[in-house]
Formats: sequence, C-alpha cells, structure tokens
Amino acid sequence: MDDLKYGVRDKRGDWKPSGRLEIAPFWSWPPKLPKVLAWLPGYIWPWNAFHMATALLYWFYIVPDVETMKTISWGWALWLYAVNAAAIFVFYGIFELRYYVQRAQATRFKYNHKFPGDTPSDVFWFQSQNLDNFLRSFFITIPLWTVVEVIFLWCFANGYVPWVGWQDHPVYLAALVLIAPAIHEVHFFFIHRLIHWAPLYRWIHSVHHNSINPSPWSSLSMHPVEGFLYHAVAFWHLVIPSNPIVALFQLHVAGFGAVNGHLGFEKLELTEDTALSSEAYAHYLHHKYFEVNYGGEGLIPLDKWFGTWHDGTKEGDALMDARFRKKRERVNARAASH
Ligand SMILES: [Zn+2]
Ligand SMILES: [Zn+2]
Repeated sequence: MDDLKYGVRDKRGDWKPSGRLEIAPFWSWPPKLPKVLAWLPGYIWPWNAFHMATALLYWFYIVPDVETMKTISWGWALWLYAVNAAAIFVFYGIFELRYYVQRAQATRFKYNHKFPGDTPSDVFWFQSQNLDNFLRSFFITIPLWTVVEVIFLWCFANGYVPWVGWQDHPVYLAALVLIAPAIHEVHFFFIHRLIHWAPLYRWIHSVHHNSINPSPWSSLSMHPVEGFLYHAVAFWHLVIPSNPIVALFQLHVAGFGAVNGHLGFEKLELTEDTALSSEAYAHYLHHKYFEVNYGGEGLIPLDKWFGTWHDGTKEGDALMDARFRKKRERVNARAASH
C-alpha cells in the first residue's frame, strides 16, 4: 500500500497520518446520527470483538469450575498464569514477528522510522528494549494480571459480590459490555495521570516510558505498581453488579488491548489493498511527548476536557507547546521566588 496517500513522511523518515485524531462522534453537538452509526462497527470490530471472543474462550475452556474457585490455590492460579502468558506470547508475538522481525511492511505507516531492536540503550536491562520489555511483561505484569483475575473470580465464586445472570438481565449485561471500553478509558486516564505526578513518575511510571519508540513488547512493560493498578480495572465489576464473563472482558480489554497503543504502525497491511487500523496514534504521541493523551483515543475525551489532548496535527503541536511553555514559566517563577 502507498502510505503517502494517507499521510506524510518527514526528512528523518518518520511517517504521520494526514488526518486528525477525532474523539468519538457522540460528543459533538448537535449529535449526528449517521456519523455515530458509521463509527459503531469500528468500535466493535475487530479489537473489542476479539477481546470478547477471548473472554468467552476463557470462561468456557480455561477458567476452572465455581467449586474449585471458592478456594484460592496455586494450582488454578498457576494454570491461569500459564494461559495468560501463552496467549500474550502468541498474540503480541504475531505482531512482533511479522512487523518487527520479518518487517513485512518495512516502515510503511510506521510513525518512527527506527526499529527498537536496532538501537541498544543503557536504560534497558541487557541494553535491549525488546528483552527488557519482554522480561518485565512475563515476570512482573502478567503475574499481577493473574492476581487480579484470581481475586475477582474467587469473589464471584463465593458469592461475595452480585453475580448477574445472562438469562435474568441480558440487556443490562449487554449494555455493560458495550460501556466496558469506556470504563477502561476512564480508569486508565486517572491512574495514568496520577503516576505522571513527578515523584510517582520517577518511582513507577518511568519504567514504561523508557520505550520512547514503543513496540508490541512495550505494552505491558511496567513497574509492578502500575502493572497491578492497570489490570485492577476489572475490580470495577466487583463494585458494579456484573458477571464474571464481563469482568474477564474488561480484563482482556486491558491486557490484550494494551498492544494497540504500542504497535508503532498506523495500519497493519494484511493484503495488497486491505489493512487493519491499529488505533495506536494517540498513545504513540503520549510516548513521544509524555504529557499529552493520558487516556485512549477519545471514547471518553478526558484529555480534551483536561486540556491535554493532542490530535496529531500542527495545531495540536501548537497547543502542546503553549502548555509546556506556561508550565516552564510557572516552575521558573516558583524557583525565583524561593
Ligand atoms: Zn504506553
Ligand atoms: Zn505515561
């Protein structure tokens, strides 16, 4: 595919889309129904449909029976960890293999022309972004994902929280599934904004930001505190009356869905003229500029409301520069007054 039909490439070789990032259409006033209807299929397909499919597979084939889950034991906890790790190895690994190892589409649609594997850096374990990110994901973050999973399944199994049945409240549960990605965005925005507070940033979140040019393995490369808080989004289903399948879906939107922001390509070419939209740009800009786009792609446009939205355009750059300048002035004024 010709990526220059969709964007521009600068002198360094970095590509960027020509359009602007748009927040979800139901936030525009007056609401335009055709726009909402045109947006809806992309909301469901393919990413959220995939997360629902994996949640169902887990529920019917992986998760132990309710009797077993009444007592927490190493047996089923380790089994869930093994499946989570294997699933992420395969799912993230496909993107890594095809687009970063085989480089099937070279740098077409790639935001940063460099591949992390080509640039060793001292900030990473063994000076390798790939190895560092991989080890942190599998030995820190995925175990913590599993801890969250075990806790909520144990709560449901013991009846500590309401277990809403699909037969009794199908419409309610379907609605909850539809808004789960919005819950994810709000949860992620606030924990993410919190760990950007300077002391917490240095302690916790700087680990994730070592990858300025993220690739699939960067997705879950986190400090343990972040790894836990990030997946703890599933605990909202212990507060809201819910069902374990919906909680699993919520967990998978976080765990499997983390890859979206870190794919590094705008489109993943599948055939000569079809491509998968990665939905990576907003979070790519976050890795590039740090203090923009704390949330997702504007499903719940918290960044817009808090003034931290970068839509990828020149105007977005100007807004960001003005904000950074103001912040510097504030810091300097404070330093001068002491
Ligand atoms: Zn990230
Ligand atoms: Zn961040």
